Amino acid sequence: MKKTIYSAVFLFISLNVFSQYWQQKVKYTMDIDMNVQTNRFNGKQKLEYWNNSPDTLTRVFYHLYWNAFQPGSMMDTRSRRQGTVVLRTDSRGNDVVDWDSRLKDRISKLNDDEVGYQKILSLKMNGRPQKFNLLETILEVDLDKPILPKSKVVFDMDFETQVPVQIRRGGRNNAEGILYSMSQWYPKMVEYDEDGWHPNPYIAREFYGVWGDFDVTISIDRKYMIAATGVLENANQVGFGYEDKSVKLSVPAGNKISWHFRGNNIHDFVWAADTGYVHLSKKVRNDLTLHVFYKPRHSRSDSVWKNVLWTAEKILPYMEENFGKYPYPQYSFIQGGDGGMEYAMATLLRGANLGTVVHEWMHSWYQFLLATNESLYAWMDEGFTSWASARIMAYYNKTWANKSPFISENEIKENLQRIEENKDKFIHSDSYDSYFNLARSPLEEPMTTHADHFNTNYAYGNASYSKGAVFLEQLGYIAGANVRDKILLEYYRQWRFKHPDVDDFIRVAEKVSNIHLDWYKEYWVNSTKTIDYRIDSLWEEAGKTKIRLRRKGLMPMPVDLQLTFKDGSKELHYVPMYLMFGKKPVEDATISRKDYEAWKWTHETFVVETTRRLADFTLVEIDPSQRMADIERRNNKLELKW
Ligand SMILES: [Zn+2]
Repeated sequence: MKKTIYSAVFLFISLNVFSQYWQQKVKYTMDIDMNVQTNRFNGKQKLEYWNNSPDTLTRVFYHLYWNAFQPGSMMDTRSRRQGTVVLRTDSRGNDVVDWDSRLKDRISKLNDDEVGYQKILSLKMNGRPQKFNLLETILEVDLDKPILPKSKVVFDMDFETQVPVQIRRGGRNNAEGILYSMSQWYPKMVEYDEDGWHPNPYIAREFYGVWGDFDVTISIDRKYMIAATGVLENANQVGFGYEDKSVKLSVPAGNKISWHFRGNNIHDFVWAADTGYVHLSKKVRNDLTLHVFYKPRHSRSDSVWKNVLWTAEKILPYMEENFGKYPYPQYSFIQGGDGGMEYAMATLLRGANLGTVVHEWMHSWYQFLLATNESLYAWMDEGFTSWASARIMAYYNKTWANKSPFISENEIKENLQRIEENKDKFIHSDSYDSYFNLARSPLEEPMTTHADHFNTNYAYGNASYSKGAVFLEQLGYIAGANVRDKILLEYYRQWRFKHPDVDDFIRVAEKVSNIHLDWYKEYWVNSTKTIDYRIDSLWEEAGKTKIRLRRKGLMPMPVDLQLTFKDGSKELHYVPMYLMFGKKPVEDATISRKDYEAWKWTHETFVVETTRRLADFTLVEIDPSQRMADIERRNNKLELKW
């Protein structure tokens, strides 16, 4: 008896160990010496690496992203190939090709002093030199001794880097004249997780990093102002608007200034430097300071930049209420890069507009806190962010757009006019429209495709941004909008500071909604099957009106059918889908809802009925909320004129 109990306990413990989530941990300490004459810097990197996995590691990998900016690289070759892929012909008869307009064939034309490179001068583990193999943007290191499970090692690296001309994301002299946009700029440990290593070569797509702490000191010509991830530790020895106003500045003499930044519990680090930045900052609460860095041009974009802090402070409570608390002490909106790109506690923005500002900040939630592997789940990063930022912008337009003291009366007037014109527009309609175009094109690939391996930039972009955004809005249709919002908060609570994947999200959604959702993942994420329901026929029988619905598409869904009658009254007929094993709560208590037994997914038709006479009908409509991504909506609606 005693023995049996003992082995039962042992079994319980060992099962627990196997199912336990783990993630690797890093601490980077870097010293960077920047030469602004040669655009090169020398770096020393101490990397403490905790192997929290149950595995013995015989090798490790680093990303060396900037080696992509050399003629003939994988990024260059792929981009030029996409330039031969014709997507369509435009209205003037010109071919629209698939390459990224920022990249095109620009890498192939770089001179030696314009390319980027990262040269590893030496690499040691626990003081012993290690052999490494340079594979363009990936460094493969065969370790002389394995790293055992639950152990820590220290890597020391010396490296030399040339900052490339700005081609994609990081680089020097971007299109708006920002001198240094320093993203993907340091040798970065590749993430190892339950699926193993992820040494994805850089072909311009997605990122994934190890959680940890960054302690970075950058020494640069004293004319340059730096904006970066983290908190500036030596603000009173630097100045540039970072200093404590009550303390006397004491900047050391010399041609260079050392800037010491620290950021904890993050998985990337970005910085930018320029001689002409204006620095604005605001402590929006005790534990959070927001910063803006931009180059004044006395143009319209200046007012966008001046407005950022005011807007950010106004929308933050709404963002936190809906998506969870922003947990870091700092966030910086930095002019730089080539569009909008998210980093830890910061974003690089070019061509600033408020929509992009909000989108990039929202990435602090969807990828920087809920750190999905973007290569495998780009849609959980870009799609969720796009969906959330559309909601925030709708809130901003409704509540704050006419109140900012930082934009002119004229601009406010124009904003309000634009808002008025779009007031009846569904806030996610752009995402739905892009998804519909994708679904009707022959180019769609399942969202499970690895980001680097989509055949076209077109299919990748629309799948990750648009189909990913539709995933969340449509989840509101399936489970109810309020339930979907609770799912997002619970997802944040359980998975922030971790690496969730699609199954983790689905499990949270199932538990919160009490609806089975595996089928939603299998159809929407794993396949390119589409939704199409139609109203088939109506007739009277035995004093009742019957309506036959037909599933034409291959993807099954629950159906909301709304009936409108001559007297203006409405009825909602709700048919859950069999595989849900549950149903959504009533969303609109002002309309009576009749619930049915679930529609079996194998069956193509389903009949609903009402006691109202057919002659009373004016409108029969499937999903008047338009949240179900039905690719043929013309057959969803039947107007009856008598
Ligand atoms: Zn984004």
